[in-house]
Amino acid sequence: MLVPRTAAEVRKIRDCREWRDRARPQQLRDFPYCQLCDKKNGAQIPAVQVDHIVPLEVGGAPFDPKNLQSLCKRCHTIKSAGEARERNKSKTNEQERLLKDSDRGNGRSSRRSAG
Ligand SMILES: [Zn+2]
Repeated sequence: MLVPRTAAEVRKIRDCREWRDRARPQQLRDFPYCQLCDKKNGAQIPAVQVDHIVPLEVGGAPFDPKNLQSLCKRCHTIKSAGEARERNKSKTNEQERLLKDSDRGNGRSSRRSAG
């Protein structure tokens, strides 16, 4: 079962020796090219990032090679952005409502004098 992690816990994993000195370089040695680009179109793009297939934030295994994939910068950016969007979905709806609200109240008088 997956147990979500806080941002601090995720940071701790990314900072620890086990990750920096072992799991990450090991993965890049085993898979020096972006595995997503390879899967998509057989392109060999040098990997610069090691990504967790199941993100650490949602409780993915930190050092299990089965949960790791080498990515080029572009793929990693795209994947991270997608995940952040997923996480922020409910928050975004809320923000959009607030934004619309403040747009409407953009006149020069403050709202509390209405009425
Ligand atoms: Zn790629």
